Amino acid sequence: MASKEKITIVGSGLAGPLLAISLKKRGLDVELYERRPDMRKVHISAGRSINLALSTRGIYALREIGVWPQIEKIIIPMRGRMMHALNGALTFQPYGKDETEVINSVSRADLNIALMDAAEAQGITIHFNQRCTHFDLRERAVYFRDEETDERKTVNSELVIGADGAVSAVRRDFLKLQRFNFSQQYLDYGYKELTIPPNSDGKHAMETHALHIWPRGSFMLIALPNIDGTFGCILFLPFEGKNSFQLLQNNSDIVKFFEENFPDAMALMPRLAENFFANPVGAMVTVKCSPWSHGSRALLLGDAAHAIVPFFGQGLNCSFEDCTVLLGLLDRYGPNWPVVFREFGAARKVNTDAIADMAIENFVEMRDKVGDSRFLFKKKVELALEAKFPGLFVPKYAMVTFHRVPYSVAESRGRIQDRILSELCDPIAKIEDLDWQRADELVHRNLTPLEDA
Ligand SMILES: Cc1cc2nc3c(=O)[nH]c(=O)nc-3n(C[C@H](O)[C@H](O)[C@H](O)COP(=O)(O)OP(=O)(O)OC[C@H]3O[C@@H](n4cnc5c(N)ncnc54)[C@H](O)[C@@H]3O)c2cc1C
Repeated sequence: MASKEKITIVGSGLAGPLLAISLKKRGLDVELYERRPDMRKVHISAGRSINLALSTRGIYALREIGVWPQIEKIIIPMRGRMMHALNGALTFQPYGKDETEVINSVSRADLNIALMDAAEAQGITIHFNQRCTHFDLRERAVYFRDEETDERKTVNSELVIGADGAVSAVRRDFLKLQRFNFSQQYLDYGYKELTIPPNSDGKHAMETHALHIWPRGSFMLIALPNIDGTFGCILFLPFEGKNSFQLLQNNSDIVKFFEENFPDAMALMPRLAENFFANPVGAMVTVKCSPWSHGSRALLLGDAAHAIVPFFGQGLNCSFEDCTVLLGLLDRYGPNWPVVFREFGAARKVNTDAIADMAIENFVEMRDKVGDSRFLFKKKVELALEAKFPGLFVPKYAMVTFHRVPYSVAESRGRIQDRILSELCDPIAKIEDLDWQRADELVHRNLTPLEDA
């Protein structure tokens, strides 16, 4: 693909370097600009210990750019959810139909570093400490301020791609365009990173191959394993009101709150209060906007185009899938950017809206329903239906996480399946009582074979 135009990608987080590698491999001239310092040289605390659940869509994109072998070394497969009841009782619920259907815990920092290493290995320059302050669409000029020296710099570029996350600076300048649609919705909940250190033998203090959840109705704690033996935990609480961050002001508030709500986790957190005060409370937002592009000059991608809340574990996977779709279109149309971008928006927006909505729904499921015996029963029936009607009845979680069917298809089939499930489960208490003949009728009448991407 021989176009020597310069492409500037703002944001060297997760989607930025992945996209840069793919563009460079197609012979395009691309550079990355990143607000933060180089995390391989400077310790960055916030967000460092957060682990992400990487699944099929993300892995597909990593394979495409040839980086999966490096990433495979830094992941921990999680086979299911381990629910921690208040009395310490544990319940394990597998994510998938068998051992091949797992999600993978990866440290955000390690993934970011691996992608940046791979980008540099391709000869891509990453400019660190460069905060994009604004972007002039007409002049095709991006303005940066050096975070260390305060020096200002203007970069003229044929194409600017905003991969600068949920609070995108590039997107801010889209707001000046006529007919640019934009909405953002913050949750009343925040999150805080905490850590469970390894045992004295260096091993994980809880089951390694699980995503641990302490569902407590209106709030929850989760923990994902790290390859260094730690667990990266995230506490999700309302900002204000009952059981909120607002009420956790000093050491004794925190100790009391954890003793009451997460006693087994607390026993594994010797530096709980210290950890708690070292990390800020993060906010979670859903951003929907359109169009994501302006002529051949600019494109938004990843969280900059569609930030979602983290409860389906899909933000990263969805951002990587953006790259897969965009590159497919680039291979089809060549660097005819207006066409590529138009098709990209048309193909993607309906799907990113769908995962945004499903992620909000999943919050209630994770913090509340996963501890409920009826919910767990329905999950069992779901897996039984999948085994009986493979390729026809595929649980929504599996469609989103283990397949590459469009998110909007997963959402609409999920709704149909919920109705089937309710009809079959509501009258019974044991899986042995399931009316298989009725199940057969409902499944064949309402569902067609699932077409994976
Ligand atoms: C608590 C939490 C848990 C999550 N868990 C999961 C999960 O389990 N699975 C999953 O798939 N997703 C998860 N996500 C979502 C995932 O982190 C994001 O969807 C993903 O990081 C988006 O990638 P991105 O490259 O678009 O944005 P980012 O990864 O946010 O990268 C944006 C980059 O742009 C840089 N930047 C920002 N502003 C500027 C500027 N003005 N100038 C220059 N650079 C700038 C930032 O420093 C950053 O490096 C989670 C998110 C949160 C908050």
